[in-house]
Amino acid sequence: MDLSRFAINQITTKNWTLAQAVDGYARAGVPGIGVWTEYADAHGASAAKLIRDAGLFVPCLCTSAWVNLTDKAAFASALDENRRRLDLAADLGAKTLVVVPGSLATGEKDLRAARARVSDALEELLPHARDAGVALGLEPLHPMYAADRSCLSTFAQCLDLCERLGDGSGIVADVYHCWWDPEFEAGLLKAGPDKILTFHLCDWLVPTRDVYQDRGMVGDGVIDIARYRGILDEIGYDGPFEIEIFSKLDWWTRDGDETVRVAVDRCAPFVAPRPTPALA
Ligand code: ZN
Repeated sequence: MDLSRFAINQITTKNWTLAQAVDGYARAGVPGIGVWTEYADAHGASAAKLIRDAGLFVPCLCTSAWVNLTDKAAFASALDENRRRLDLAADLGAKTLVVVPGSLATGEKDLRAARARVSDALEELLPHARDAGVALGLEPLHPMYAADRSCLSTFAQCLDLCERLGDGSGIVADVYHCWWDPEFEAGLLKAGPDKILTFHLCDWLVPTRDVYQDRGMVGDGVIDIARYRGILDEIGYDGPFEIEIFSKLDWWTRDGDETVRVAVDRCAPFVAPRPTPALA
């Protein structure tokens, strides 16, 4: 079992502090941790050292601050906060800041305006991202979230935006958000390996009791993860795989060590290095 590409996004063990998550993952032989800003901030300035000393890699920092603000001063300060998060990502050794930008401003109904605002914000952040060596990782979120969390809703939409932004941007692909999308597979093939920054794993439960906080453990739902893994091999993706579970009703109520143990067991078949083609 080669787990070298595997990381656990720390929201999966929501009740653990950063130090507990680093310790728990390292003890389980998990080499990577997806970090959330709130936990890194709570830990303080030594967060990067803590992670480095444990020998863990950091596929991404979650998430950008929302920029769904029509007030100019508030928008400017949200951009400053995002610059701070890009610097934090660089400090942690994360090559990607996951972009979850918000959507409609309070009282607003103009989704096109929200999308234009997000595009403008990303363009403004791009020079800082490039200087920091941290990519803006556009994560298409399920359209259920289009009113509030993110107006970046489909893989194709994010790929178009990445193509306009150019260097310093890419895609965070998450099966929870993309599996329903008839264009998802074509999007992966079109994106190629370099635009996919990290790949998030979980499952879609039937029924889903809470769209925000009832994601399934890999293997417990209806997503054909093996199929996506096959496509990623086909395009030559060698990047990280990261389990990310929001689960108020189940996994967050369990002991963190149990969640980690099950996550490793369930993800192991999908996270191995890409098989090298046999020499002719
Ligand atoms: Zn995700």
